[in-house]
Amino acid sequence: MRISRIFLYNEPSVPEISSDSLANFLQNTFHVTVIKRENIFKNAAEDTAYDLASSRIFNMHQSFQIHVPTNEEVEFERQTFQNTSKVENIILYDGFEFQRIVSSLIPSDESNVEDFHFVFTNKLTCTFDFNDYRYHGRALIGANPSIISTTGIIEAPAKPREYYMELMVNYGQGLNIDSIKKKYQGAYLEYHDLRLGKIIEGYCLQALFYYITGESFCDLLDCRLNNAHWQRDLLYSQLEFGKLCNKHSEILKSWTALNDLNC
Ligand SMILES: [Zn+2]
Repeated sequence: MRISRIFLYNEPSVPEISSDSLANFLQNTFHVTVIKRENIFKNAAEDTAYDLASSRIFNMHQSFQIHVPTNEEVEFERQTFQNTSKVENIILYDGFEFQRIVSSLIPSDESNVEDFHFVFTNKLTCTFDFNDYRYHGRALIGANPSIISTTGIIEAPAKPREYYMELMVNYGQGLNIDSIKKKYQGAYLEYHDLRLGKIIEGYCLQALFYYITGESFCDLLDCRLNNAHWQRDLLYSQLEFGKLCNKHSEILKSWTALNDLNC
């Protein structure tokens, strides 16, 4: 698949995305023009707030059921369009519904197959897994546009098992959880973590590889295309190792050579 332009729709409440350096990274990696845009919901239509509120999930153990939103829920969505940092509690949204809603907000003259879009959001996108019959938070909804949920990056890959164990034991004893959080600090990503920028590059690579080759993930931990289920693995693949494996480096090299010729 050829790509001629990449669009980045920013999430202003998460400056750690650092869209300037992300744009440079993508431009250097794929040799494609990268265009930065404001938050996607600046393009919101009359129905967008209602549609988003309808895509909320209330039952983690049931596949998507369209929700009939209250006026307050619709108004809440409308307010987040003006100020995305308004989000206080984590609200779950069906990722595929969310993707469909934001797709409709991309201008039609930028919706060619050669235009690739990233939509960043602090809303938590989830998908229903029929293997265990429950919703899971997702950092990435890989499609075009691809959705990258900054809340998903922090909440979806699991923290160390020991962290949960200590938390459970201490909850029972009524102890302060701050000391446990402190003990594991650095072992997982936190809100406004300075490492988010690099981690987001990895999710962008996964989304673009999926678009280009039809396969998004790599089984090797020594590759930025690894689909990490644990925070530890995510930090290792994206920061400590921080490269593509040989196979995927070669695929990228051949793709850019061909794409350069066509551009
Ligand atoms: Zn690989």
